[in-house]
Amino acid sequence: MTRVGSLRVRVLGAGVVGLACAEELARRGHRVTVWDPVPGRGASWAAAGMLGPAGEAWHGEADLLAAGRESTRLWPVLAARLGVRLQTAGTLMVGYDAGDLLELERRAALLAALGEAAEPLDRRALARAEPCLARAAGGLRLPDDLAVDPRAVVAALRERLADVLRPSAWDLDREPVPGRGHDAVVVATGARLPEPFAHLVRGVRGEVLRVRADDPPRHVVRGTVRGRSVYLVPRPGGEVVVGATTEEHDGPPVVTAGGVHGLLDAARVLLPGLDRATWLEAAARDRPGTRDNRPLVGPTHLPGVVLAAGHHRHGVLLAPLTARLVADHLESGTVHHPWDPRRNP
Ligand SMILES: Cc1cc2nc3c(=O)[nH]c(=O)nc-3n(C[C@H](O)[C@H](O)[C@H](O)COP(=O)(O)OP(=O)(O)OC[C@H]3O[C@@H](n4cnc5c(N)ncnc54)[C@H](O)[C@@H]3O)c2cc1C
Repeated sequence: MTRVGSLRVRVLGAGVVGLACAEELARRGHRVTVWDPVPGRGASWAAAGMLGPAGEAWHGEADLLAAGRESTRLWPVLAARLGVRLQTAGTLMVGYDAGDLLELERRAALLAALGEAAEPLDRRALARAEPCLARAAGGLRLPDDLAVDPRAVVAALRERLADVLRPSAWDLDREPVPGRGHDAVVVATGARLPEPFAHLVRGVRGEVLRVRADDPPRHVVRGTVRGRSVYLVPRPGGEVVVGATTEEHDGPPVVTAGGVHGLLDAARVLLPGLDRATWLEAAARDRPGTRDNRPLVGPTHLPGVVLAAGHHRHGVLLAPLTARLVADHLESGTVHHPWDPRRNP
């Protein structure tokens, strides 16, 4: 049944996912408040902002690719509404040596089987497309993968929601079930879900660097260098995001010397001009991973409590689709079953 009239919704968590949900609900005329003690400083602060379903495609994840593609199609409208720039130059996947190229050829076959556009580039075509890169064995151009600056997105969303942002944590133990003063709670607290949902998400540490380069790449570059993955995501003004490590862990997300060294080591091989770059920062955050690496979006066993969490490596990409699913669910009860949080015991 479609809900008519304005709902009162509390969104817990002001990362890219919670903010996107709040903005969509507010746009549809609902009354929203967003609670977060440190808005925008979770995983969304570290994210590189690749909107890259093809670049992330993997065996057994055709459903995630389809969702990513659907969300990519929503991004231009959201970016225009927020006044943030989308990077549309596309992505280059690069194999540095012959072994890396072999891996890339397997990736090309997978993308072809999944119906994704991917143009093979030989050594020369790659050098023409991105002259700042070292001479690499070959590459693939993914024309449909985009990128955005997540910090710009979060800042624009915060500005639009400034009147309804509450700078404090919400304790779901204290008042778990909607009733007093609100019709629904959307839990979007990233890698740290409150009880009784905490066990559904685990932290997957990611370390990432930011430098300012005088000759940055024009495309997003996803490289494999002697078997090691590294990406370079250019931003306007010469900033380049170099990422990212991936580590399953229980401790707090801290930057490690080994993480920084590993990333710089691979990135310098791919982009020799990196040695002249100015250091900006290193950051570490937890990606919100789930048991099956699919997001948790939709109703829970607590009436009126909806999850919008567990987006792992894809939270920026999937934010507009998540916002639409959450708003549709609250208005009409629809559920996107592959992401139904109740699929987990
Ligand atoms: C290094 C790195 C690179 C990445 N690159 C990409 C990329 O290129 N593309 C992509 O799509 N994704 C990327 N990701 C993944 C992406 O960052 C996450 O999936 C996404 O940011 C999750 O957003 P979120 O809003 O769910 O969580 P977060 O951004 O973590 O936000 C959760 C918020 O909840 C708040 N909070 C916590 N507890 C409470 C409480 N009790 N009450 C109120 N508020 C609370 C926190 O303060 C925080 O602000 C990357 C992640 C990392 C770590």
